Amino acid sequence: MKKVLVLEDEENIRSFVVINLKRAGYEAIEAATGEEALQQLKRNSDIKVALLDIMLPDMDGFEVCRRIRATDNQIGIIMLTARTQEMDKVTGLMTGADDYMTKPFSPAELTARIDALFRRVGSDAADDSGEIRQEPFLLNTRNRTFEKRGQRIKLTQVEYSIMKLFMENPGKALSREEILDTVWGKEYFGELKIVDVNIRRLRIKIEDDPTNPVYITTVWGYGYKWGF
Ligand code: CA
Repeated sequence: MKKVLVLEDEENIRSFVVINLKRAGYEAIEAATGEEALQQLKRNSDIKVALLDIMLPDMDGFEVCRRIRATDNQIGIIMLTARTQEMDKVTGLMTGADDYMTKPFSPAELTARIDALFRRVGSDAADDSGEIRQEPFLLNTRNRTFEKRGQRIKLTQVEYSIMKLFMENPGKALSREEILDTVWGKEYFGELKIVDVNIRRLRIKIEDDPTNPVYITTVWGYGYKWGF
């Protein structure tokens, strides 16, 4: 059974999510506080995707996200936000979330987003083995690690998928739509902006000077290019 953590303090929203997840064939693990969510994750190490509400009684969802990412880069994280301000979304993604959904959302949107994350998390095992080396970087597709000058850089699932796409297409300008389709899936409901947010975060992790990127360059009005 594919397990999803649902962290939401409002009971009616939580049960709406849980019912729809069950209908779609997922097992839902429920939590009403940040502390409870972290405990459930410890108890259920096979949870692959977590849905995190932001406004919670004990700590905010961004803090929960940060604490999860401190030890786990593999789990897929979707922030549930009632607030629509762009900054909130960006903050959430900078703490390591893979995606966000603005409340209210439809059951179809909910399951499409979760299915897409599961496909990405689940596709790991089927990954071909091997290494892609482009100095000073090394991507290992067998154990999904990424190194710069021999130093391991921890990437989230989304960041890894973007790096893999880049390193398989060196020197090629990739449109934001192409990156979105490949990494998030064609059925993705969200906005193109999520590509930019993840690229910004990747640059902070891999560039020598993120304000003056030389590895991931911007192709104005189009997308991004890996190559130097
Ligand atoms: Ca809430």
